[in-house]
Amino acid sequence: MQINKKLKLILLITISIVLLSASLFYMQTKNKIEDMTYTLFLTHLQKGLVKEVELSNGGKIKVKLTNGKLAITDNPRTDGFKEELLMYDVNVVEKTNSASQAIPMIILVSAMGFMVFYLNKNMSKQAEKEMAKMSEIDAESSNKRITFKDVAGNDEAKESLMDMVDFIKNPEIYNKFGARLPRGILLYGAPGTGKTLMAKAMAGEAEVPFYAVSGSDFVQVYAGLGASRIRELFKKAKDAGKSVIFIDEIDSLGKKRKSGDNPSGSEEGDRTLNALLTEMSGFKDNEGIIVVAATNRLDILDEALLRPGRFDRQVEVSLPDVNGRYEILKLHSRNKPVAKNVNLKKVALETIYFSGAKLENLMNESAIIAVKEKSKEITMDHINKAYYSVLVGDEKKDRSSIKHIDREITAYHEAGHALVAKLVAEDNRVTKVSIIPSTKGMGGFSLNIPPDKMYQTKKDILSSIMISLGGRVAEEIIYGKENITTGASSDLEKATDMALSMIGVFGMDEEVGLLSYNVLSSRNLNSGTLTDRAKEILNNLYEDTINLLNSNINILHSLAKNLIDKEVLNEDEINNIVYQ
Ligand code: ADP
Ligand code: ZN
Repeated sequence: MQINKKLKLILLITISIVLLSASLFYMQTKNKIEDMTYTLFLTHLQKGLVKEVELSNGGKIKVKLTNGKLAITDNPRTDGFKEELLMYDVNVVEKTNSASQAIPMIILVSAMGFMVFYLNKNMSKQAEKEMAKMSEIDAESSNKRITFKDVAGNDEAKESLMDMVDFIKNPEIYNKFGARLPRGILLYGAPGTGKTLMAKAMAGEAEVPFYAVSGSDFVQVYAGLGASRIRELFKKAKDAGKSVIFIDEIDSLGKKRKSGDNPSGSEEGDRTLNALLTEMSGFKDNEGIIVVAATNRLDILDEALLRPGRFDRQVEVSLPDVNGRYEILKLHSRNKPVAKNVNLKKVALETIYFSGAKLENLMNESAIIAVKEKSKEITMDHINKAYYSVLVGDEKKDRSSIKHIDREITAYHEAGHALVAKLVAEDNRVTKVSIIPSTKGMGGFSLNIPPDKMYQTKKDILSSIMISLGGRVAEEIIYGKENITTGASSDLEKATDMALSMIGVFGMDEEVGLLSYNVLSSRNLNSGTLTDRAKEILNNLYEDTINLLNSNINILHSLAKNLIDKEVLNEDEINNIVYQ
C-alpha cells in the first residue's frame, strides 16, 4: 500500500514534469510573440484588428490583435501616437517594467501542464467535467444591487428591458395567458454604451442572480470545453431558479459562417454555438430565465442566433445624445465633490460621440486629477484636463474644433436626407434625424417611413433615390464640389442598387425596355447599356435634388442648425421646421 502510493506519486511527478516542459515548448511555439513590421501594424490598426497596445520605454511595443495573436513592432515614439491609437479604439497600456509578467506566465504554464495531464488521464468525458469545475462560473456577488436607477439615458432600450423584469418575476401569469415571451434579448451598440450595465440592472430589478460569460472566452479553448461550459452555465442558472444569463461579445461565438471558411478554425466555435442554441430551446417558458447577449457587430452575427425562440428581441443601445450625456454625467458625479461652478450641461455639449463608459471615465479621471492637485473639489479645470486625457491622451492638441466641423458636416448631410424625404412626397414621414452615429451607419442617420403600400411605383423609386442622394447633395451645396466627404458611400450603394433594379429588374425604363437583367446575365448575354443608363438616371436625379434643396435652402440651414444644437430631432420638431 505504502510503496504503491509512493510509486504513484513519483509517476505523477514525472508525468507532470514531462508535460510541463512539453506545454512550455508548446506555448513557445504556438503563442510565440511574432515580429511585425511597422507598416503591417499600421494596416492592422486601420482595419480595426488591433485590440491592445502596450507602450513601454524600450525600443519595441507589444501588440495584441483582436484574434488574440501577440506581436512586437517598432515604437514610433512620435507625439500623438497614443492619440492615434485611442482614435482607433485600441486599449493602450503603459508599462514601465515587465518583471510582473513572469508570474502569471508561470501560473499559466503550470495550469496548462495540469490541463494536459487531466485531459490525457481520463479521456474526454471526465476531463470535461473537471475543466468545467475549474472554470467555475459564479453568479456575480456584488454587494451593491444595480438597478435601472444606475442607468441614465437610453430610455427606449431601458423600457424594453423593464418589460422583461415583470416576466422574470411572474412567468406563471404570462404562461396562463398563453403569451410566448422572448427567450433571448440581443443588445447591440457601440462599446461602453451600457449593455452590460443594463443586463445587470435587469437582474437587479428582478432580484435574481446574474451569470455572465464572454464569447471571447470560448475562442481558444480545448475541444469540447466551450460546449461544456455553456451547459454548465445553464445548469447553474436552472438550479438557481430564476436568473439572467449574460453573454458578452456573442459575435465571437456566433459569427456568420462563410462557405470558404477553414472548417477546422471554426469547428469549436460552432460546437459552442450549437450547445448554446440547444440549451436555449431546452428550457421551458415558465422558468423565468432570460438570456441577454451583447454585441457591437450585429451585421456579422450568424442568422441562426436571431431566429424565433432564440435572440428574437433585438434592442439597440445607442451612444447618448446631449441630454443622455448630461444625465450620465450627473449620475457619475453623485458621489463626488463637484464644485458649484461646474457646468455639466456644458460638459455634455462638448462630449459628443462619448459613450457612457467614456463619460464615467471622464468623471473618474477628473477626480483623480483633483486629488493629485490636492484640491478640495473637482473643478472645471480638472474636467478639462481629464477631457483631453480621456479623448486623446495628449493635452497639446485641441480636437474639439475638428469635432465641431465633423458635427456640422454630418448635420447638413442628415438634414439633406430628411428634407428631401419631406419634399419629394407629402405623405413621407421622417420620424427621427440624428447626428449621433448608430451601429447601422456612419455619421448620423435619418429615419424615413414611406407610406404603407403593397407596390412601389416608379415615382416612389425615383423619390427614394433622391432621398439617398440628399446627403451628398447637401454637402456639395454647402461646402462645394471639392469638399464632399466619404460619408455618402452607403447612400450611393443604395441609390445604385435602386436604379439598376428599376431598369433591369422592374422594366421601368423606356430606353432599356422590358428585358430582365437577371435572365440576361444567367445566359451570359450582353446586358449592354444598363450601366450607362443607370448612371444617366442617377446624374439626372442628382441635378433634380440639387435644385430641390437649393430652392429650400433656408429650411436646410434651419434643420442643420437645430441638429447641431440638439443632435437629435423628433418628428414634431422636424415638421415644425419644415412647415414653418
Ligand atoms: P458595454 O457593455 O455596452 O460595453 P458597459 O455596460 O460595460 O458597456 O459600460 C461600462 C461602464 O460605463 C458602466 O459600468 C457605467 O459605469 C458606464 N456607463 C455606460 N453606459 C451608461 C449609462 N447609460 N448610464 C450610466 N453609466 C453608464
Ligand atoms: Zn447619408
